[in-house]
Amino acid sequence: MAQTSGGIGLRHDWKKSEVQEIYETPLPELVYRAQTVHREFHEPDRVQTCQLISIKTGGCPEDCAYCPQSAHYEADVERQGLLDPEHVVSVARDAVARGVTRMCMGAAWREAPQGREFEKVLEMVRGVSALGLEVCCTLGMLTEGQAVKLKEAGLTAYNHNLDTSPEFYGSIITTRVYDERLKTLAAVRKAGITVCCGGILGMGEKASDRVGLLHQLATLKPHPESVPINMLVRVEGTPLASMPALNPLEMVRAIATARILMPRSRVRLAAGRKQLSPEAVTLCFLAGANSIFVGEKLLTTPNPGPDEDEQLLESLGLKPLESHAG
Ligand code: SF4
Repeated sequence: MAQTSGGIGLRHDWKKSEVQEIYETPLPELVYRAQTVHREFHEPDRVQTCQLISIKTGGCPEDCAYCPQSAHYEADVERQGLLDPEHVVSVARDAVARGVTRMCMGAAWREAPQGREFEKVLEMVRGVSALGLEVCCTLGMLTEGQAVKLKEAGLTAYNHNLDTSPEFYGSIITTRVYDERLKTLAAVRKAGITVCCGGILGMGEKASDRVGLLHQLATLKPHPESVPINMLVRVEGTPLASMPALNPLEMVRAIATARILMPRSRVRLAAGRKQLSPEAVTLCFLAGANSIFVGEKLLTTPNPGPDEDEQLLESLGLKPLESHAG
């Protein structure tokens, strides 16, 4: 496939002002540009379906203001210890039968633990990867040694979101700093694991923070292979429960900008999709999103059911992307 986009090679030196200019382009023009880039780098009729499973739920010591799994808040989430690897592999097996090609396993930890629990995670990674699925984990901060072990077990990708701009980060999370995120991302890269890194829109940030997040992502070298764009799910009991609803067109704008800035990356329409109409989701696809998460729950928040997803993809004439794992 082409190495360039509109005559411009893959760039990592985007200036914030350039990102802002793209983000503020009139929407029809922005979507047109994004779709043009998308067609140059991706099969336009393919969408990857990913399944997310929570392998350890709730009781997290971090205070991410959007998260019902934080122990700091009173959200109605039932805590659950680390799942049995056999159970996780059986969920993955069912997912394969439904055309899923990527499995993401999320654990509500500040950092990946050492010892027996980590061994269990490695067992899950080995089991899921043996099914031919791409395997992604999100376990909190990682050491370089843990990243190497995960890679050896067959991990394809590690998810570690930057969430928002460096400037707004402190309003959302106080228990860690932006630089710690970047350090884990570097450990993941060093181990040869691909990076899944994106953010959440609708947390009360300004448009300039969305630009700031996209600028951070687009100046990572290499770009994250996977860029999940989430829309805040306003969960009762969390500090962001009464945030005003985000205009869905901001999701379209952010996805289109991500597509133009990071042409090769898979841009994932992630959490919050249930709040978008089928027409808004269609616009997100037009803007260059080429992956969705399936399954009735995304960790702890609701997601459209498999039938709804199938119907939508079918009505749009989109087909699932085949696995490139293994
Ligand atoms: S987002 Fe992750 S790190 Fe933050 S509170 Fe939730 S589970 Fe913990």
